[in-house]
Amino acid sequence: MTSHAEPQLPSPSPQSRQPLPLVTRRTALAGALGLGAAALLPSATPARASAAPARARAARAGASAAATPEIFGCGTWGARAASESVVVLAAPPQRIVVHHTATANVTDYSKDRAFALARAIQNYHMDIQGWIDTGQHFTVSRGAYVTEGRHRSLTELNAGRHQVRAAHCVGQNTVAIGIENEGTYTSVEPPAKQFAALAALCAHVCQKYGLSPSEIYGHRDFNDTSCPGDRLYAMLPRLRQEVAALLGVPLLDQLWDGDEGWDRWPGPSEFLPARELNRELERSGLWLPRGN
Ligand SMILES: [Zn+2]
Repeated sequence: MTSHAEPQLPSPSPQSRQPLPLVTRRTALAGALGLGAAALLPSATPARASAAPARARAARAGASAAATPEIFGCGTWGARAASESVVVLAAPPQRIVVHHTATANVTDYSKDRAFALARAIQNYHMDIQGWIDTGQHFTVSRGAYVTEGRHRSLTELNAGRHQVRAAHCVGQNTVAIGIENEGTYTSVEPPAKQFAALAALCAHVCQKYGLSPSEIYGHRDFNDTSCPGDRLYAMLPRLRQEVAALLGVPLLDQLWDGDEGWDRWPGPSEFLPARELNRELERSGLWLPRGN
């Protein structure tokens, strides 16, 4: 309702935000991954070119191939106007935060369902939470359709210089791109197609903003929440690896193992109370109560 409707707690200081340079099992993996990614790069190289420029061209080709997920903008899925102008921040994001919507694991994988979900989330965030617009930047449906959340998120992503201020994770809304994944992943994994779409989206975000794939986290890394569910959270190392492979870059060593209590803010226990959101989906006529 007002610009103060969205809690915007100050971000931790840059120093406290800095992940500790840990040497983990992924250190060895990074080297292996780099070789693996290189092996996947296009091999069509003019004989007269030296190896180094050829590798650079191949890396660019591989990166651009990973950078074209289809993202349906607000105008396509029928978003309402934001209640006030969204805020475009001066800086680019520093990381990606992965969420689940804690809604039913429906078997409607259609584009219509993805668009209805986007509208339902926006209605819930604006009418129940009182926010100016959808909280997160992007949403991945169980049918692997990617929709824009908050207005301007897609425009700013494609430009690659600024982040839209969001409302998806207390303490991270000015420094992290928030991606919601439709479903509840406490005891089951997301559909393979959805996970692949998430990886492609993350690769695109990393490329556009110059982020390392190691800067992909789960909501629970920052707030007291089960989000994105035990099963999806356990898949984040694989997600980082797949994003690195899509980009053709090695994972960096500065990985935070999640056990340091670092950058953790007291926040709501659940970002999207399933009961309210499911009620909104029911009103939309697309609610399929199938449990988790
Ligand atoms: Zn979350």
